[in-house]
Amino acid sequence: MTAADLRAMVRDVPDFPQEGIVFKDLMPLIADPDGFRESIELLADWARPRRPDIVLGAEARGFIFGGALAYLLGCGFVPARKPGKLPWETVEATYQLEYGTDRLEMHADALKEGSRVIVLDDVLATGGTARAKIDLVERLGGVVVGALFVVELGFLHGRDRLDGYDVHSLISY
Ligand code: AMP
Repeated sequence: MTAADLRAMVRDVPDFPQEGIVFKDLMPLIADPDGFRESIELLADWARPRRPDIVLGAEARGFIFGGALAYLLGCGFVPARKPGKLPWETVEATYQLEYGTDRLEMHADALKEGSRVIVLDDVLATGGTARAKIDLVERLGGVVVGALFVVELGFLHGRDRLDGYDVHSLISY
């Protein structure tokens, strides 16, 4: 399976969730056994040499890729969640989206000091979500060893917000 095969499984949905946004729908890729396995293996190939302890994924699609990736790498998985979902003491970050603002929370005790963390998401758009996760990891004493994405919307220049970090995506537009 090639990168072109993976790309062919990403569906463009115009004007979702609002007019002017072309939503990259990864559900067809996730639902395809070969596509899903190949994408997890390619993510793992990049992440493995960075020797992560933890994969951090934000809900909801970050959980799907993140859980499988953490399992394959032999890492733990830590979620970043929408406000009010986590039961324990939390730390919170607010960030700008391509469409609106949002907030993410992590458990205050989710990371051990010096934990090596891969920050993972399905799509890198403006970089706001990834930046917020990086800030949370660093506030909790973790070390970000990579920011990893299945899809990158290069024309939104999200990488500029992640300057100084090791950034990788499988499929770029
Ligand atoms: P950003 O913070 O702008 O990099 O946005 C990244 C987050 O928003 C990811 O969790 C994506 O799932 C979602 N997202 C933003 N724009 C899109 C898009 N055009 N297609 C699919 N998901 C998107």
